Amino acid sequence: MLNERMVGLGTQRSVIRELFEFGKQRAAEVGAENVFDFSIGNPSVPSPAEVNETAERLIKEMDPVVLHAYTSAQGDAGVRQMIADSITKRFDFKVGPDNLYMTVGAAAGLCCCLNGLCNPGDEVIVFAPYFPEYKVFIEGAGAVMKLIPADIEAFQIDFDAFEAAINEKTKAVIVNSPNNPSGCVYSEETIQKLAEVLNKKAAEYGQPIYVIADEPYREIAFDGTFVPYLPKYYNNTLVCYSWSKSLSLPGERMGYIVVPDQVENQNLVYAACAGAGRSLGYVSAPSLFQRVCAECCDLTSDISIYETNRNLLVNGLREMGYHVVEPGGTFYMFPRTLIEDDIAFCEKAKDFNLLIVPGTGFGCPGHTRISYCVPTEVAERSLEAFKKLADYYKNK
Ligand code: PLP
Repeated sequence: MLNERMVGLGTQRSVIRELFEFGKQRAAEVGAENVFDFSIGNPSVPSPAEVNETAERLIKEMDPVVLHAYTSAQGDAGVRQMIADSITKRFDFKVGPDNLYMTVGAAAGLCCCLNGLCNPGDEVIVFAPYFPEYKVFIEGAGAVMKLIPADIEAFQIDFDAFEAAINEKTKAVIVNSPNNPSGCVYSEETIQKLAEVLNKKAAEYGQPIYVIADEPYREIAFDGTFVPYLPKYYNNTLVCYSWSKSLSLPGERMGYIVVPDQVENQNLVYAACAGAGRSLGYVSAPSLFQRVCAECCDLTSDISIYETNRNLLVNGLREMGYHVVEPGGTFYMFPRTLIEDDIAFCEKAKDFNLLIVPGTGFGCPGHTRISYCVPTEVAERSLEAFKKLADYYKNK
């Protein structure tokens, strides 16, 4: 008898993957240039040249036995020192190498935190709209996801619903800002209020409630939008970071967890995350890219392209009558669908070769996610297809 949950996870293709496959088939029929694939969040701009240059230099100059060896389970000490220095400088928040644990991307970071913190039956709060893998990761840790409905006016937090959801089983809250799929950034006021509520509730229940800050999009913020560094606002915060998006390196699988000194029983919480990494079989993060990312950790890919695409699409869609909350970052936007049924809407969009993802899968029906990490020329040409889709519903 196999593990039914795992069989299910391994056989059900996600809606996004289905769309991606459909896109490939459609491209063969009508030509790739006529398909507007906004389904997947794969960065469309190359890594900065320094990434490849650093990798080449390390391969040429380092002793291969060292370069390709296992590092310490928590990551190479020199690597953690460089990243800790960068965090301390950039966020004016002191961390050292012993606060960092290198991970195989943010996904592994989240799994290490969740498995390290949660006991069976614990609850983890997630705000809609949310990255659907959270449910898989939370359940994988034996915990239960509690979803807070979206604040669809601004994509901040519905605090009444949030407070009502916290109880003695609440172990953690996942905060993802800048957010996939809305693109919105939580304001400083939102973060302050979140900290206030959590401090109050933790005191009420006499136990810590952790924030897990999932931050792969931290650097992708536009017009100088301020992205608060959560550990500065709430002590029991663990940060999961990744270079998948900021350095366009999703395939290299590199990230880290920060467990700041301010976390209650920091050494035990850090040990729990490390223990979870061990139990999940991560061993240590890839050695070459630990070193590459450490050397390039103050750089980003050219995110101005995402900002150009955002402006072009937000303005274009609004002119056609779509309702869009302007994203402050990422390469996603989350407009309302022109009919209530977002699944039917996205199905209809396919007739115009537009591949967009229904909001239902992100816990927020009546919306659709557009991943605008595409060449600007594609975003520009897609406007005609969005117009045809809007006209279809106007004339219906
Ligand atoms: N968290 C969010 C919100 C994401 O959108 C993603 C990837 O798309 C991840 C985590 C996982 O990122 P990584 O590639 O670093 O594992």
